[in-house]
Amino acid sequence: MRASERPILVLGGTAEARGLAKMLVEQGYRVISSLAGRTSDPIRIAGETRVGGFGGQQGLADYIRSNGTAILIDATHPFATQISDNAIAAAEATGIPFARLERPAWLPRPGDIWTSVADGSAAARAIPSKARVLLALGRQHLAPFSRRNDVHFIVRMIDPPDAPLDLMDFELELSKPGNFDDEVALLSKKRISHIVCRNSGGSQSYAKLRAAREQSIPVIMIERPQRPAIATLPDIGAILSFVAEAMPQPGLKL
Ligand code: NAP
Repeated sequence: MRASERPILVLGGTAEARGLAKMLVEQGYRVISSLAGRTSDPIRIAGETRVGGFGGQQGLADYIRSNGTAILIDATHPFATQISDNAIAAAEATGIPFARLERPAWLPRPGDIWTSVADGSAAARAIPSKARVLLALGRQHLAPFSRRNDVHFIVRMIDPPDAPLDLMDFELELSKPGNFDDEVALLSKKRISHIVCRNSGGSQSYAKLRAAREQSIPVIMIERPQRPAIATLPDIGAILSFVAEAMPQPGLKL
């Protein structure tokens, strides 16, 4: 394989990963973006794409060796921990340059009323009785709330769920997050008393937190899982610099 054909493997599934792939392709790098395959119709990504698990750490290391991957970038979601652990192990086993792109977590600002909790179960316990709670979580994260029959949940989703939700007292709110005025209106219209969400970071879903601050609504914030802070960089610019140092001209070094 010629050096110029050696790809950068971007473990993706996030907006940042898509943005990174686009920038790298524009700079002339060969990029393979890897998706877990959870979404049936994923957004188009610049460069090449592969879909599905690798088969654990060993599978990922084998993949890296077999296609001559030059650099590994883990740009997966802050709450996706298994693939990140696998990436660290596979980079170590193969010895290729490795970095993780992770958007910084949100931090409370003056006026915010946040309770930080470690996981969904702790969030469910932190909700007071008779609360009206906006559950701003994905469908797969609702299980810890299924036994609270003394709380009314407003479950926000973009698309209707494909199976009934296992919650006792709830209504569905089918809408897209992201617009501040819409979030303010939703909190008022539904008389929301609390919000439960995950500390995903980024600007896309921050509007609900601004709206909560404005209306003095408490937020139960599920914090990110603990993970090793190995080679973690906060934004695309920092990753581009890392790549440029490891491979100054696309494909010519390494
Ligand atoms: P996870 O628990 O860390 O990973 C479970 C398994 O799925 C991994 O061991 C791996 O299988 C496979 N996998 C995960 N990400 C992959 C990728 N980018 N390419 C190839 N295989 C991948 O991950 P998760 O939380 O289920 O998240 C799955 C994907 O959705 C990630 O790409 C993530 O960026 C994205 N996402 C996750 C969240 C979230 O809240 N967790 C939110 C938005 C987007 P093998 O061991 O077989 O390789």
